[in-house]
Amino acid sequence: MNYIVFDLEWNQSSDKYIKDYGLPFEIIEIGAVKLNRWLKVVDKFEVIIKPQIYRYIHYITNRIVHLSQEDLDNGKPFPEAMQEFLDWCGKDYVLCIWGTSDITELQRNMMYHGMDMLSQGPLKYYDIQKFFSIAYEDGKIRRALEYAVDYLDIKKDIPFHRAYDDAYYTAKVFKKINSFKPKTKKYVSYDIFTAPQSKKDEISVNFKTYSKYISREFADKNAAIEDKEVRSTRCYLCGRNARQQIKWFSVNGKHYYCIAYCKKHGYLKGKVRMKKTDSGSIYVVKTLKLVPKETMLEIADKQEKLRLQRMEKRKAKKEKD
Ligand SMILES: [Zn+2]
Repeated sequence: MNYIVFDLEWNQSSDKYIKDYGLPFEIIEIGAVKLNRWLKVVDKFEVIIKPQIYRYIHYITNRIVHLSQEDLDNGKPFPEAMQEFLDWCGKDYVLCIWGTSDITELQRNMMYHGMDMLSQGPLKYYDIQKFFSIAYEDGKIRRALEYAVDYLDIKKDIPFHRAYDDAYYTAKVFKKINSFKPKTKKYVSYDIFTAPQSKKDEISVNFKTYSKYISREFADKNAAIEDKEVRSTRCYLCGRNARQQIKWFSVNGKHYYCIAYCKKHGYLKGKVRMKKTDSGSIYVVKTLKLVPKETMLEIADKQEKLRLQRMEKRKAKKEKD
């Protein structure tokens, strides 16, 4: 299996009054490095794309990306360039990127041009920016690529800010993290540009400190929260069904919480986030996490407050009527 570390440059509308035609960011360059299973560089890839929607370089793009209008005019059409990239990627690979936005925009561009999606459901990838945070910081903070390069004492032998250059440095950061903290690689990410289409495409992963579940699509929120699998609270450490002490309740219509109790491991906090797909249906991202007793009490408190608020509202309405 190979690792494809890639980076994109994109262009956007120069005129804020012009609509984005369903594509706010148009890709103008793909740069990538191919690493083998030992993370050794085996090939490189670079292609410039001739934009079809935003044909002139936006001033912000111009400031950060070192591409001229002439470069773009001589670029290839997106479908051709993308197909070339996919052929170059080969069959067995994992995409690796710095951050999360490139992978979504890549798929949005593919969809816009009527190309087949990269996967049936969520797409597994490695977010090297997240890896860096997990390996060296709190796992939450997100740093710029150059920060990580400096932090890890990586030699800056080529300039930054063309797609290939950023892919090149991202690959170096990845390699360095992997040689010191190889376990970081367990923290895979999933891009949900395409939600799971059926039960078998659903995602369930156990990490060291939490578990994550990404459901298939549902017609609406009620159908989602009524689903048996969505409601389930299995302990991610022992696999036992943890009994719900505070049943799922809605906080703001988008987020739901629950508290379950595993006899062996203690309290688990469940969180469900309702997400909307482009077509308007709903899918769910659920996380379960072990928490101390205080968190359980906080959640109980929150539920009680919400209950009182609702009661007040009902009362006020009644008095008005
Ligand atoms: Zn357990």
